[in-house]
Parts: sequence; C-alpha cells; structure tokens
Amino acid sequence: MTTVSLGMPAVPPRGFGNISELEPFPKYAERELGNAQQRRNLTHATHTIRDKRLKVVSELPDWEDLRDAGSAIKSEAMDRLPKLLAQFEEQFTARGGTVHWARDAAEANRIVEELIRAAGPNKDGELDVVKVKSMATQEIGLNEYLEERGIPAYETDLAELIVQLGHDKPSHILVPAIHKNRTEIRDIFLREMPDVDPDLTDDPRRLAMAARAHLRRKFLSARVAISGANFGIAETGTLGVVESEGNGRMCVTLPETLITVMGIEKVLPRGEDLGVFMQLLPRSSTGERMNPYTSLWTGATPGDGPQDVHVVLLDNGRTRALADRHGRSALHCIRCSACMNVCPVYERAGGHAYGSTYPGPIGAILSPLLTGIEAEENKSLPYASSLCGACFDACPVKINIPEILVHLRGEDVEARRSRPGARRLPSQFDLAMTGASWAMADGARMGLLERGLPLGKIAAGRDGVISKLPGIGAGWTQSRDIPAPPAESFRQQWAKREKNPNKKNPAEGEAK
Ligand code: SF4
Repeated sequence: MTTVSLGMPAVPPRGFGNISELEPFPKYAERELGNAQQRRNLTHATHTIRDKRLKVVSELPDWEDLRDAGSAIKSEAMDRLPKLLAQFEEQFTARGGTVHWARDAAEANRIVEELIRAAGPNKDGELDVVKVKSMATQEIGLNEYLEERGIPAYETDLAELIVQLGHDKPSHILVPAIHKNRTEIRDIFLREMPDVDPDLTDDPRRLAMAARAHLRRKFLSARVAISGANFGIAETGTLGVVESEGNGRMCVTLPETLITVMGIEKVLPRGEDLGVFMQLLPRSSTGERMNPYTSLWTGATPGDGPQDVHVVLLDNGRTRALADRHGRSALHCIRCSACMNVCPVYERAGGHAYGSTYPGPIGAILSPLLTGIEAEENKSLPYASSLCGACFDACPVKINIPEILVHLRGEDVEARRSRPGARRLPSQFDLAMTGASWAMADGARMGLLERGLPLGKIAAGRDGVISKLPGIGAGWTQSRDIPAPPAESFRQQWAKREKNPNKKNPAEGEAK
C-alpha cells in the first residue's frame, strides 16, 4: 500500500495541469468585462439557477442542520484522511478493483494513458475513450494530454461537449458552457458535427437530439470510459457519480474498462454519509430536490458492467492544502457551484478570468492553496472578491470563503514583504490601510474623521456620482462610477435627529 505524505513540500512541485494559467486575474478580467454578450448570458444563467436553489432550499426546515452535518462529516474526513484512504483502497481492491496513486497531474495522466493502451482499441479498431464530466480530469489536463498522444477523449456531458467542440474552455463548474447562448451552440454544432442536420435550429430540444445522435455512436463503440467521482466511500470501497443526463450512467456501465480519477479529498467515512450529501448537493447545484442519475459502483461485478475497474487517487496539491490549518476547509468543497452563482465578481468577470479549472470564489482560494500563493499567477486571486460573504451563505458545507480569502491576502502581503530586496518603507496602500484601521477601530476617531471630510462639497459638486478617484483609489473608478456620499454621514444625521426628533433632517434619504 502506498501511503499519503502529509508534509508540505518546501518548493511546490510544478506540473499541476490546468489549475493555474500564467495570466493574472485582473488582466484577464479586464478583457472579459468587454464581452457584453457573455455578461448577459452569465447574468441570465446564474440568476436562474440561483432562484431555483433558493426555492428548493427554503422547502427544508432543517437546511442549516444539514449544512452543519455536511461540514462536520467533511472535517472528520480531512482529520482521518490517511486512514480513510487506506480503508478505501483495501475495500476497493477486495471487490475486484485496482487502486493507483498519483502525486501530481503528470503521474495521473501517465497512469491513465497506460491503462487505456493496455485495454486496447475499440470495436472500430480505434484507441479512444468516452468521458463523464469530471473536474479532476480537467484539473490534470487529461484530454489535452491524451490528444497529444493520439487518443481522442470524447466528452459526453452536453455542456462539456459544447465546450470541447467549440475548442473552448469551461467557465463554470456545473455549467461549463454557461457563457454560450443557444444560437452560439447551434453554430458550433453545425460547424463541428459531421452528420448534423444542416437545418438545425436553436430550439433546445433539437440541439439535445443532435448531441444525442452524435454521442450514441461513441457510447456503443467505446472500450474504455473515464469518470471522476463525487464521493468515495471508505467503509465499502464504493465510488459514486451524480449527474443529470444519463451519459454518466452509460459511461460507467457500457465499456469494458472503467477508469476513475478522484481527488483524495472526496473520500467519505461511511455509506450513510451520502444521506446528507444527496440532499445538499442537488439542491445547491442544479436547484433540484434530487439529481436524476446517481450511479454507485463497488469494484467489479462479474457479468455486470465494466470488468476492469480502476481508480486513480489524485493528490496534486491536496496534501499541501491540508497542511494549511486556515485554508484546509477548502477541501470540503463538493463542487456544487452555488458560490459562483451568487458571486458579483464572477457574474461580471466570468469563469475564464480565474485562469483555472476552478473559477469563482472557491477557485480564488483553492488554486492558491493547491499550488501555492507564491506562484505568480495565484497572487491576485485572493483579491478577486468584494468579501460580501454571499458565497459563505450559499455554501452547503459552510466553507468560510471570505475568511480564507483574507488569510491568503495576509500570506501574500507577508510573502512580498519578506522577499529579498523588498522595500522596507510602507507603501501608500499600507499607510492608507493603517490609517483606516486606526480610525475605524474607535467611534470617536471615526466621528472626528467624518467631521473633517468635506462630504457636503463632494456630494454637491459631483452630480451624484464620482467618476475618477485619485491615487490608490483610482482602481475603484477604473471601470465604474461611485455614488457620491451623502452631504452628512449617518453619525451626523443621527446626532441631529437625537437632538430634535420631530424635525426632519434634509440630508435624510440622500444616500442610496
Ligand atoms: S465552495 Fe461551497 S458553494 Fe462553492 S462549489 Fe464548493 S461546496 Fe459549492
């Protein structure tokens, strides 16, 4: 048995796959903000899912208890991770499956390639694979890796298929083609599907039928399928995939060889834990009470389904994240995507801006935790947030994303200060933040500061908005106007009101 090391490497290993791209968030986001069509698509899609989620969540009076239970199970799993993984391996192997361990993306890709070659070509004599939508295989860049070696990997989830045929990248965990509308999808199908009806319209049913006909041929000829896993049960060595289209069920039952790539944090102690997660996950992700297809398999069953069953247990930075006591709860993530559907930054910048398989609020913490905040491409990610807290409220396993963002910002600042040759003098930003912190920590100081600010003049002179701030405030007005402050602060208005409760304060109602 291979054991999992819990020591954090002093120098982070490279070759993580698609976790981080070299372009930093602010640059990418600035470009994406110019894509008005994408912003419209995103707003429409995220608001639709968000409303559905709120409706089904409000039906459960014990929703908060379920969140607590989900969080507790995940904490337990992380605390006992080495033991649970060893138990999972023992059970999976005892039931006819084979367990492989991969330290990083390169190792995982190599293992999968070897298994595909060992399985041999499909019924048409070609070496290829069909795939269930999987974040872990996207993370390691498996499709690109296989393609470079002449092995096509066919995505069978509709949205993943759209992204793949469009030579694009996913921009959302759950809805990878969220940035595309129906007309754009029809155009992709017309361009990329060899036998598609040339009169195909953008009617969703007709688009789904076209994809179905295209995929059916792949399902029936494939010898090897590749999946991820939503859960791995240590107690029994069971793997589970939840999905909506039935393509996952086809992949995990039809081919002769099934290879699953699972992040090591997906292990759960007991089968009964699924009772909690099968309520939390569909409601938080698709806004459904139950997901349409839940496939569970335990090793290989003679005469039923794939006879050659493998699981690749993937680290790829997870033990590094586990060693961060402030950030390790990011590994509790069940990839529901609720946090990105409520995030004002994601809604405007879109998923590609995060430069990672993991976009949105969870991506802003997970990518730096997996690959290191000191990596150049990760430094700006913890700042890609207004810290409004909507992600924390929406998260079914209560990951305190804002708290981890602040922790990572602190690590980034410390890393910059301790870099050889770093300037010792405080920056303009440091001075402003120190001043603000001093003033805001005490009501009397804050009142004094407000009295000194020419709020009345600012409000009167700017026509209701401020279009350009000077100095370090310039970034705030780079792409938007700021409402001018009211002529009097709340504190000043309140003091007047207390003095004369019957007199209406003319400043009241100005601040919007
Ligand atoms: S962080 Fe929470 S809300 Fe976001 S994807 Fe993960 S589980 Fe869902």
